[in-house]
Amino acid sequence: MVDAVVVRATGGPDVLEFGQIDPPRPGAGEVLVDVEAAGLNYIDTYHRNGMYARELPFVPGNEGAGVVAELGEGVTGLAVGDRVAWAHAPGSYARQAVVPAGSAFPVPDGVDTETAAAAMLQGLTAHYLVTSTFPVKPGDTVLVHAAAGGVGLLLTQLAKSRGGKVIGTVSTEEKAALATGAGADEVIRYTEVDFAEEVARITGGTGVAVVYDGVGRDTFDRSLTCLSPRGYLVLFGASSGAVAPVDPQRLNAGGSLFLTRPTLAHHIATPEEFRRRCEELFAAIAGGRLSVRVGARYPLAEVRRAHEDLEGRRTTGKVLLIPG
Ligand code: NDP
Repeated sequence: MVDAVVVRATGGPDVLEFGQIDPPRPGAGEVLVDVEAAGLNYIDTYHRNGMYARELPFVPGNEGAGVVAELGEGVTGLAVGDRVAWAHAPGSYARQAVVPAGSAFPVPDGVDTETAAAAMLQGLTAHYLVTSTFPVKPGDTVLVHAAAGGVGLLLTQLAKSRGGKVIGTVSTEEKAALATGAGADEVIRYTEVDFAEEVARITGGTGVAVVYDGVGRDTFDRSLTCLSPRGYLVLFGASSGAVAPVDPQRLNAGGSLFLTRPTLAHHIATPEEFRRRCEELFAAIAGGRLSVRVGARYPLAEVRRAHEDLEGRRTTGKVLLIPG
């Protein structure tokens, strides 16, 4: 038996049951991995509370890193003992997880395993957002909500590295300092002041080229008003709740705006694209151009507290779960 977290009914953090399960077995094209660190992501809370449906019971978590313990039939290019990281394999909140070989990226030398676990899902997300959804170019002014969060700190750094000017929003002074440290030119405490008014002031009324909005319900309406004509609202998450239906006419009134709701799965859908994004991400990390902040580590047994802290806005950067 191996330690794991199981969800048998959807709900609050108390539905996360820490216990033991039969060891998972790798099928054809899969590898069994001894998990050294599992990544906590906001999407895990959507699976736990039922906002995104999963078949019950399930072991939560999509991301982690560890050491290959066994190869399933037909796997080539990986060996027992290899360090790998993944962003898209359900069942990561466990001492052992089965990962499709094509989703297991070999961790480069010079990157430690915890950093790899911390970088994958949020790093690949920040990567596609600034390179594909709205490719940031020098001179673009960019608004990043929740700039001290897992995606936020990485997005801020990547947008800056492409020559953007970054305005970040955060809820606390501590988070403001982290966003500034990641390179944000301006930081707005959006729980204290109206961020749309602040953006208008900072940009001299021009607005921003793009808003990366992972907060959703609480920010969406005012995010639309922050855009310059033909600007992009990139709604990529809902940490404050889901956004209500939108009248497309508002995009016209705002100045021929664009609205998109992208997701990571569609940006790593082929092995080639997955590998290319991983290689670029890890090259930036290994080269010291991208810093991955692990804000907190929790023993896997304390998974409930980890979810409470993430949803209670008490975390910064990446949150990792460490199997015993
Ligand atoms: P974060 O580390 O950013 O945590 C969420 C943050 O959202 C909080 O720390 C908080 O920052 C902010 N927030 C604002 N309002 C609330 C609220 N009412 N309740 C809770 N948090 C709030 O999480 P992640 O980096 O894991 O994810 C960020 C967003 O990105 C999520 O919405 C997630 O679903 C999305 N995402 C989307 C992906 C995609 O491909 N579409 C992939 C990965 C993530 P503060 O205290 O500063 O306000």
